[in-house]
Amino acid sequence: SMEYGPAPEAAGDALAWVVDQGSRFGHFIDGAFTKPGETFETTSPASGEVLAEVSQATSADIDAAVAAARAAQGKWEKLGGKGRARYLYALARLVQKHARLFAVLETLDSGKPIREARDIDVPLVARHFYYHAGMAQLMESELPGRAAIGVCGQVIPWNFPLLMLAWKVAPALAMGNTVVLKPAEWTSLTALLFADICRQAGLPAGVVNIVTGDGAVGAELVAHEGIDKVAFTGSTEVGRKIRAATAGQGKALTLELGGKSPFVVFEDADLDSAVEGLVDAIWFNGGQVCCAGSRLLVQEGVAERFHAKLKARMKSLRVGDPLDKCIDVGAIVHSEQLARIKALVAETDGEVFQTAAPEGCYYPPTLIEGLHTADKLMQEEIFGPVLVSMTFRTPAEAVQLANNTRYGLAASVWSENINVALDVAPKLVAGVVWINGTNMFDAAAGFGGVRESGFGREGGWEGLQAYTKPSGKPKALKLKAPEAGAPELPE
Ligand code: NAD
Repeated sequence: SMEYGPAPEAAGDALAWVVDQGSRFGHFIDGAFTKPGETFETTSPASGEVLAEVSQATSADIDAAVAAARAAQGKWEKLGGKGRARYLYALARLVQKHARLFAVLETLDSGKPIREARDIDVPLVARHFYYHAGMAQLMESELPGRAAIGVCGQVIPWNFPLLMLAWKVAPALAMGNTVVLKPAEWTSLTALLFADICRQAGLPAGVVNIVTGDGAVGAELVAHEGIDKVAFTGSTEVGRKIRAATAGQGKALTLELGGKSPFVVFEDADLDSAVEGLVDAIWFNGGQVCCAGSRLLVQEGVAERFHAKLKARMKSLRVGDPLDKCIDVGAIVHSEQLARIKALVAETDGEVFQTAAPEGCYYPPTLIEGLHTADKLMQEEIFGPVLVSMTFRTPAEAVQLANNTRYGLAASVWSENINVALDVAPKLVAGVVWINGTNMFDAAAGFGGVRESGFGREGGWEGLQAYTKPSGKPKALKLKAPEAGAPELPE
């Protein structure tokens, strides 16, 4: 029923929108959709059905999108924060108005549970636009002496297609930039629906441009000489390539990359809450989350009890059709990603515990014990519903194990003793540390990593600053002669 969100048959609405658009999409450039060019299929991982055909951008498409963004930027910036806020509020309201359509389309294209798309992704997207509308209004008073950077080239992954778009587009627009965004090739549909929303909002042509295609399109976009700032979210491997490709080009750059985030359970933790936290940490979006709590570290004294509770809870997780609102774990985004997960788990020497999953593009919730710190699965991001687990004896050992990673995106600490939690938290090398909680996101809080998880922050003041530069010419420094009798400065 409506009250509980879309039933499986509600997919019809989203499919109807796709069919209305001709089921073949061009790019969104200079305020209009282009004619589809060479296309590729985007499929539903859950049903295997082809949803639509999406265009592979050519160099000419990328040039046109960048040119449109350049042409629009000056006027957009001159509109001022209050003028831009009106459009950001309109986008936020339109996302809310079409929330159901966005949620179903996201679930169809990505395989994530409808409950998550509807209750988490889409509301966070609306909130992100509302927040940044407010911040646009405050730009002149709160960020004096800052100006837009210019044209932003933005490349995003497939795990939170619309939410990652919001994280990129909202702050860029708020600060007076224009954008060319490339969604991930497996999940382009909600970005194209968003383009439609930009049209409905009357957003000036060229302020938001969306080009679709594979990694080669992303590579060409970020290297384009008409781009002033690059913002990327995705794998560490591609982040490294982008850093090399843009080195020496003078472009501003922020990178949000992978993770292998520790989930640390002390023996005085509320174990039932910690189990629920862990379910959210590693099985939210099927573990296809950059900050997933994918490495469980549990204190020896409670390890056996905790694992028993965890396994019992794993058995109650429902894996299946993501459009079913009772489902906890949906489909894996794509058969290629499923193959990657299977291959990684197949080669482990660890002790594997798995529950059941349906046939098709699904992978069961999995727990792997008995690994050593240097084992591949302890170190590598799996990006699937797979948790690895180790035990520790002392808080010092917990810290040492938690930091034994090349990543540093997030960490979660569970203890009923606030002294233990507050002692351990600052010792963890991570962009965010949650205490007795996990996956808490807010538009007003900066999010980002250290080490190989990237650099720069998205959200909050830091995120806004990353879309600005100092305005005007630097003022000449006026040096005052020291007053008579003023003490000499020490050498
Ligand atoms: P990916 O790096 O393969 O692809 C991400 C995007 O980059 C896609 O749009 C892709 O087409 C594009 N791309 C590929 N090669 C490129 C190149 N050479 N130059 C420019 N663009 C290129 O990542 P993925 O598999 O889509 O996403 C999973 C990864 O993203 C995981 O490692 C995950 O941890 C990370 N991630 C990080 C965050 C974060 O905020 N830190 C958030 C979500 C996902």
